[in-house]
Amino acid sequence: MQKNNKAIVVFSGGQDSTTCLFWAMKHFDEVEAVTFHYNQRHSEEVEVAKEIVDDLNIKHTNLDMSLLSQLAPNALTRDDIEVNDGEEGGLPSTFVPGRNLLFLSFATILGYQIDAKHIITGVCETDFSGYPDCRDMFVKSLNVTLNLSMDSEFVIHTPLMWLDKAQTWELADDLGAFDYVREKTLTCYHGVRGDGCGECPSCILRKNGLNTYLAQREGANA
Ligand SMILES: [Zn+2]
Repeated sequence: MQKNNKAIVVFSGGQDSTTCLFWAMKHFDEVEAVTFHYNQRHSEEVEVAKEIVDDLNIKHTNLDMSLLSQLAPNALTRDDIEVNDGEEGGLPSTFVPGRNLLFLSFATILGYQIDAKHIITGVCETDFSGYPDCRDMFVKSLNVTLNLSMDSEFVIHTPLMWLDKAQTWELADDLGAFDYVREKTLTCYHGVRGDGCGECPSCILRKNGLNTYLAQREGANA
């Protein structure tokens, strides 16, 4: 991969996007981050994102996407709706319709403005929780559409697309960022940093992946 290009990372301050930030810093000379605000449950999330980019000395753009909560009353954008895994076969209550469509589009428009051809997102099809706009096919399709719309040649990178949570921890470790990601990031739906509350669906997914990875690492070192 070329190392002399500029990239933007779609960044939330969570495990996945922070791992993507380290991945981008390895592969590109110039890296910026963009964070979208849409009345997240916890302003803690916004604070964590800011701390990480300041810490890593990354130029950061904040974009207001609060219109999403006007359109999508769900558990991530409204306080009065419980977080759950959804009905059998249905979408979880954390699904925000069109979120990645909008985020990737706005990130790419920002890329156009700052002359960054590479857009990096932590979306993932492996731990597929039913979000249709996390699928590889969707991202590839949107990439084509965005390039046509701006007559340009952006590349949307999805380094986590085919990784499970354990492999995402492994990637962070390979990038020398395991402890950093483990301690500084926020994934928990209840706004608890690092290992989190341990009980919400997001913490359970994160913890299971971490335990699997740690067991593998132990095994390899034994
Ligand atoms: Zn939690």
